[in-house]
Amino acid sequence: MGFRLANIGGRAALVQGDSYFDLETLGAGNFGPDPMAAIARFDELSALATGIDAAVPTGSIAGADIGPPVPRPQKCFAVGLNYQAHADEGGMEVPAVPLVFTKFPSCLVGPDANVELRSDGVDYEGELVVVIGRGGKDIARADAWNHVAGLTIGQDISDRPAQFAAAPPHFDLAKSFDTFGPTGPVLVSIDQFENRDNLRIVTEVNGEIRQDDTTASLIFDVPALISYLSRITTLVPGDVIFTGTPEGIGAAQLKFLADGDVITTTIEGIGTMTNRCVRVSDYIEATD
Ligand code: ZN
Repeated sequence: MGFRLANIGGRAALVQGDSYFDLETLGAGNFGPDPMAAIARFDELSALATGIDAAVPTGSIAGADIGPPVPRPQKCFAVGLNYQAHADEGGMEVPAVPLVFTKFPSCLVGPDANVELRSDGVDYEGELVVVIGRGGKDIARADAWNHVAGLTIGQDISDRPAQFAAAPPHFDLAKSFDTFGPTGPVLVSIDQFENRDNLRIVTEVNGEIRQDDTTASLIFDVPALISYLSRITTLVPGDVIFTGTPEGIGAAQLKFLADGDVITTTIEGIGTMTNRCVRVSDYIEATD
């Protein structure tokens, strides 16, 4: 059965078709409104979703204020160079272990949010995002999917000038500007996917396809990433992993994001995010 979980105006909601159902209302007081608490109880959401046909929808998804499905993760990991063709386009060697950096949770925004550009070298990176539902330490690969609450879409927006302003590059800052983590529109439980290891992922800018691949191309797949990270740090419910981006980033084509550009990111079985870019002031203070 499974579930599709959204953050509507800061409140957890289950989604079916074009309607959403406020979780606190649907759960008759058994659940509170906090999306983070809902994720930690993800194994109870499927049962609740089975009764959804008899419930009255809270509202329509169209025009709703949709926030990031995981608004306040304790940890937000991201993985670089996790698709061979993407490593090739950057002239980089594929690492022997996952190349992990962090995006500060404060960069996370919803699926319709504007992306604020603070230089002329900002880039898109469409990515599958894994959300931990059951915490753990030293998780075996074979057990890893059992720790996943669900999957969602992410854009690992990256300011390339900031990223490469120092050597070695500082990924964390360059990928953590405010608004640089659009996610959503929903968190989809893994039993909703026919093949959770092979999902088509497409990023378009102004309707032009820039990235088009499947998550079957991941070098370190979801179980490998969870196992690796959990041997270093204890994973907790709500932890987020951006799994890496396919080939076709703007830096490889000298097509950076500009004011008014619209980024459309789609993953099979999850949905689509649409984010508009807004060029604001430069992040480097002008001096003379
Ligand atoms: Zn990335």
